[in-house]
Amino acid sequence: MKNYTICVILLMTVYTPIREKQIQPAKTIQPAENLFIITTDGFRWQELFLGADSLLINDASVTPDAETMKMLYWDEQPEKRRKMLMPFFWKVVAGKGQVFGNRFYDNKVNVANIYSISYPGYHEIFTGKTGLSVASNDKIFNNNTNVLTYLNETEKYKGKVVAFTSWDVFPYILNEKENGFPVNSGYESMEAETAGASLINEVQASLQKPSLSTRHDRLTFLAAREYLEQHQPKVMFLGLGETDEFAHQSRYDLYLEQAHAVDGMIAELWHWIQTTPGYKDNTTMIITTDHGRGRRESKWSKHGMLVGGSSETWMAIVGPHIQPAGEIKQEQQLFQKQIAQTIAELLGEEFQTDHAVAKSIPLH
Ligand SMILES: [Zn+2]
Repeated sequence: MKNYTICVILLMTVYTPIREKQIQPAKTIQPAENLFIITTDGFRWQELFLGADSLLINDASVTPDAETMKMLYWDEQPEKRRKMLMPFFWKVVAGKGQVFGNRFYDNKVNVANIYSISYPGYHEIFTGKTGLSVASNDKIFNNNTNVLTYLNETEKYKGKVVAFTSWDVFPYILNEKENGFPVNSGYESMEAETAGASLINEVQASLQKPSLSTRHDRLTFLAAREYLEQHQPKVMFLGLGETDEFAHQSRYDLYLEQAHAVDGMIAELWHWIQTTPGYKDNTTMIITTDHGRGRRESKWSKHGMLVGGSSETWMAIVGPHIQPAGEIKQEQQLFQKQIAQTIAELLGEEFQTDHAVAKSIPLH
């Protein structure tokens, strides 16, 4: 035991300074040409890092068919559990990239805005700042310049930026009226240039109900992939929304199923990237969420200012020039507002605008 302790102390003494030296701002990392940002709305760090929650998966009021869900997503060991829930994320994204936000290691990611709801969250991700007046999910055009608009105004990325989102508030958050790049959101149809696009439009039209503000994620994904094939954008934001929808319905089973489906879509996207010339070994992906949810079992379905845990999030970065550091296990505090400048720097750009932009995330 004593020898073991000495060994550990020696290892830590030798090892810690080396690890710290390896942290570098995103701008010192060789840029890739393309960057995809993927968000899954209101997906908790708890499920990402620990997999299914034992209390929630055994609670019949939120998980009606616990038996099947447990066959799919349950193991006593959290590291096995999370892989059952999100196999691509834990094998490939964590295997090749960097994952932040496991609070058991004091590696923390939080939203910096005080509201912990979606519009302020996405505002923070894309503008690199918070604003007290950005306080609701109302359909109000955002006057703050976002990093996607900034990139679309550079020579290199002009006409090469696009957003596909499930939630229909994004045209306001990203200010489609003035930003100059397409934002396809909710059940908005896409230009029917191909048989695939026409089919997607037809399916959407058959499913659309005026009450639905969030399109099925699978349709958002298929529309985005069709656009990728046709237009080869360099910067794409894929905003998925159903994890939040199912949580609000207090359906933990569907929330888990959707997380698993999102993992599958990220896998498909990665496979497309790695089998498509121009994108292969030339595309970085940032995967994150817009807010956390209640920490307590009675509050997991909710989020917001008064729900403890709602500001706790996570993020992952994977790409050809990102060191495979995996799950980051060192004490650190990152904020969602740091993502905007990170997006720019990973493309070799600097996001400069008429407001102060938070500095980028230091990468390992
Ligand atoms: Zn929500």
